[in-house]
This record gives sequence, C-alpha cells and structure tokens, in this order.
Amino acid sequence: MRGEVHAWLKENWDPTLGVFEWRNKLADSGWGCVAWPTQWYGKGLAGSLEAVVREEFNAVGAVGVAAGVGMSLAAPTILGHGSDDVKSRFLRPTLTGEIKWCQLFSEPGSGSDLAGLTTTAELDGDEWVVRGQKVWNSGAHKANFGILLARTNSDVPKHKGISYFAIDMRQAGIEVRPLRQANGYSTFNEVFMDEARVPAANLIGERENGWAIALTTLAHERGANTARRPKFRNVDAGRCVAEAAKESQEYFATYAWYPQRAGRPDLVPLQVHATGQVDDPVVRQLAMAVASQDRLNRWTVQRTLAGRKAGRPPGPEGSLAKLNGSLMARLCNKAHSEIAGAAGMLVGPDGPQNGMVGEVLISTPAMSIAGGTDEIQHNIIGERVLGLPKEPGNDGDLPFREVKSNRR
Ligand SMILES: Cc1cc2nc3c(=O)[nH]c(=O)nc-3n(C[C@H](O)[C@H](O)[C@H](O)COP(=O)(O)OP(=O)(O)OC[C@H]3O[C@@H](n4cnc5c(N)ncnc54)[C@H](O)[C@@H]3O)c2cc1C
Repeated sequence: MRGEVHAWLKENWDPTLGVFEWRNKLADSGWGCVAWPTQWYGKGLAGSLEAVVREEFNAVGAVGVAAGVGMSLAAPTILGHGSDDVKSRFLRPTLTGEIKWCQLFSEPGSGSDLAGLTTTAELDGDEWVVRGQKVWNSGAHKANFGILLARTNSDVPKHKGISYFAIDMRQAGIEVRPLRQANGYSTFNEVFMDEARVPAANLIGERENGWAIALTTLAHERGANTARRPKFRNVDAGRCVAEAAKESQEYFATYAWYPQRAGRPDLVPLQVHATGQVDDPVVRQLAMAVASQDRLNRWTVQRTLAGRKAGRPPGPEGSLAKLNGSLMARLCNKAHSEIAGAAGMLVGPDGPQNGMVGEVLISTPAMSIAGGTDEIQHNIIGERVLGLPKEPGNDGDLPFREVKSNRR
C-alpha cells in the first residue's frame, strides 16, 4: 500500500492547485481518508494504515484533508448515522474544508446533564423551527454549520425526545455572541436561536434517536484531539500549501491557548533551570512527577489510538485518557506555581516564559470541564467499566415535560 500511495502522489500531487481542488482529488481517489468506506471517499482500509499514508504525504510535502471539529466530530457521526443523502451533501465539503463546523450541545442549564437540554425543534412543513440557547460553543463565530441537539418531543423521557441536526449557522435566526475568557482569549460563544430554520433533510439519523447519535460524537471527542494542528514545513512550496497553511492558521487561532490549558509540561524543566532551582529537592520531585505523568499520559493516549486503529469503536478508555489529561494539567499547574512563585501571576511578556506560565495557571481548569467534566468521566467509568449501579436521578422514566427543573 505504501508503494501505491507513493505512486499515486508522484502522479497527482500538484502544489499549484487550489487547496479545495486538491482535496477534491483526494476525495475522488480515497487517499485522504483511507479508513472511510470506498463509496464515501475512502479506501475501506484499517485505520492503522493512516499513519503510513501520512508518512508518504509528509515525504513529498502534500496537503491532507481539512482538520478540526468537522473531521473529528461531525464527519464520523455522519458516517455512522447519516442517510446517504446527508452523507453525500456533507462529507465531501467537510473533508475539503469548504464547510467548517462547530458543536452546539451545551446549554446554560445543560452541560453535564446534556440530556436535559431545552432547545426545541418543531416541524413546520418541510422545515424544523429551532428555539433556544447554546453556550461554550468553540469556534461558532467562524463555523458555517453546527451539529445541533434539540428536543423534538417532551412527552417521552428526556433521553428519548432528542434529535440531531446539521444547522446552517449563517442565517437570520442565529445570533453568535463571543464570550471573553479569563485568560484574555475569546474563542467560544453563546449561540441564540430564535426561529432558526433547518431543512427536514438535515436531520441526522432517526428522529428522536439523537441521544444515541450524540454518544458517538462524545466518544470521538473524548478519544481525539480536535485541536491537532497539521504542520506545514515550507509554506512557499506552492499555492496549495500556502492556502492550507493560511486556513490552518485562521482555524486554529481558536485553539491557541490549548497547549497552555494542557499544562505545558515542556516548560517545567526550562523554568527549573531559569530560576536556578535545579538543586532544590522539592522542585526536583515535582519536575519528576510531571515527567512521569507526561509519559503515562502519552501511553494512555497511544492505547486509545491503537484501539481505534485496530478498528474498535471509541469506548470508555477515552474517559481514562481524558481524566489523565486533567490530572496532568493540575500537576503542571502545581509545579509551575511552586517554581515561579509570585512571578507566575504576571501575564504578558513580563511574566515567566514570556507570560506562558501565567497563561497555564489561568487556563488549566478548562481541562477538567471541556468535553465532559472529571466527575462525569468518573461516572462513565464507574457504570460502564466497573459495572457499578447508575447514579440516582430525579427524573426516572418521567416524560420530560414533567421533570422538575428550574430551566423552564
Ligand atoms: C474549553 C471548553 C470548550 C468547550 N467547547 C464546547 C463546544 O464547542 N460545544 C459545546 O456544546 N460545549 C462546549 N463546552 C462546554 C462543556 O461541554 C461543558 O462546560 C461541560 O459539559 C460541563 O457543563 P457545565 O459547564 O454546564 O457544568 P455543570 O454541568 O453545571 O457542572 C458544574 C459542576 O457540577 C458537577 N456535576 C454535574 N453533574 C454531576 C453529576 N451527575 N455527578 C457529579 N458531579 C456533577 C460537574 O462535574 C462540575 O464540577 C466547552 C467547555 C470548555 C471548558
């Protein structure tokens, strides 16, 4: 297969093409997403072969498919649950990057209790009319489409009345308001939907089966890194590379603070040396704890990825990887605080490591919240791995409209 992809690239890679034109060639050839089925722009091969293909692309500097929420969350969900019509309209422009996506799940009163969401969608002829509010929606200010969860039936228990849609973000019924974060960035948003419209054909999967479909998205979210940014070694290597690099720079600006959110373990030894504390036994102990946890963390992520490459669907091991990420962020926060002392409170160029330490200290709490909080991951592991009883709830099998709530 390495020989095949090598030969195909030799014949077809053309850096003078526009990036969308090139990615359309990738879609036609199947070499952009080898693990996707052959009728949907892939080659139907094992996910483990993706790494081989990437190596061959990197060797000639060829651009790959688009990165981000579209490819990591929307596309796998659509592949798993969408009708052929939905697949044929959304998969190709998602992999070429012509459609950029955001995730419209969380609401002011429904984050952990996602199934308690109150945004509604009502069928009016051949359109759904959406009313409600979402929040913490990363990149919604740049997205053309959103993966949306909305309640379509309040007369059944909460998990059974939700449907899953692809909603056009560029319409009069949608207002996106950026939020300002404590670390100075403004990368997620409030999204208000006031009679926003969704064509009936943009329902993903069966009506009222949205919860099961959302679990697919969430499993992919916990097992993947939606902020993994492709590297472009030489942006002067032709139009295609330059356009892809520009697209990547604009898209990943939303995630510029994510390395700091993860704790920046790489800065710990630099800080130990910069502050002259190499011989301090407490500091040495902390630095070693960070290095050990970092190694463990990588192995857990590799275990998750290996499972995916072997063709296993994402499962509770994603929750373990996510919890490890939170642990790492907190440990780094502790080490950076200890090593920098009061100087760690300085942000901007005056702060240690050009203000990065200050940014770490403010940003790391997000690790324990985004993509499902630590407590929710504990619940998932307790119930699905350890077989513990479900946590008690106040809603049981009640129809959603009878569930006691301060949200309505
Ligand atoms: C950086 C970042 C990016 C995000 N991006 C997006 C996005 O693009 N799209 C999107 O839809 N959402 C996004 N979110 C939102 C995220 O999914 C929610 O913040 C998260 O699910 C928690 O919900 P909440 O904020 O409403 O907190 P709550 O659910 O109100 O939780 C408050 C506290 O109560 C605890 N708690 C709640 N329920 C239980 C329980 N049953 N057992 C034990 N403890 C419990 C929680 O662990 C937490 O400590 C993002 C969040 C962050 C931080």
